[in-house]
Amino acid sequence: MEQLFAPWRIEWVTRDDAEDDVEGCPFCVLPDRDDDRASRIVARSDHAFVILNNYPYNPGHAMVIPYEHEGDYRALDDDVLLDHARLKQRAFDAMDRAFQPDAYNAGLNLGGGASGGSIDDHLHTHVVPRWEGDTNFMPVVSDTKVIVEAVEDTYDRLHDAFAADPDATVPDDDCAVRLQF
Ligand SMILES: [Zn+2]
Repeated sequence: MEQLFAPWRIEWVTRDDAEDDVEGCPFCVLPDRDDDRASRIVARSDHAFVILNNYPYNPGHAMVIPYEHEGDYRALDDDVLLDHARLKQRAFDAMDRAFQPDAYNAGLNLGGGASGGSIDDHLHTHVVPRWEGDTNFMPVVSDTKVIVEAVEDTYDRLHDAFAADPDATVPDDDCAVRLQF
């Protein structure tokens, strides 16, 4: 039977260690911390950032998120819309360089409950690389330690790939790559 591809059904879950103390909206709290690597924030633009999913649907599964705490896509200002869209474009470029996927799924959950997302008041676009014949990564790699290592490896590979962007500046290996369009 074909599996339904539904990365938005993965709850955004905090890891066991450093993120235990996230209170409030994680998509507001994590970018405010001065610890991008621990927060899994791999790239930042003026109005948005790219964060890895702690429990990836596939290797490389990331989310592109405006800093603004807003759940309604229609409420975004033009500046934020454009910046968020451009950061998505650069995320595809970086994933091409890092993982050479065959395709992508990219999408928003809007409207909470029925959409299947777990955080409905701060919009986020899932970007998931796909390969011919891939299956849901989670049942294959269900061991937490393996997943954490996989996400750390993904962070390094995507960080290098974003750093190769012509508009990138790289503060250091533990800081998100800065993109200005
Ligand atoms: Zn928020």
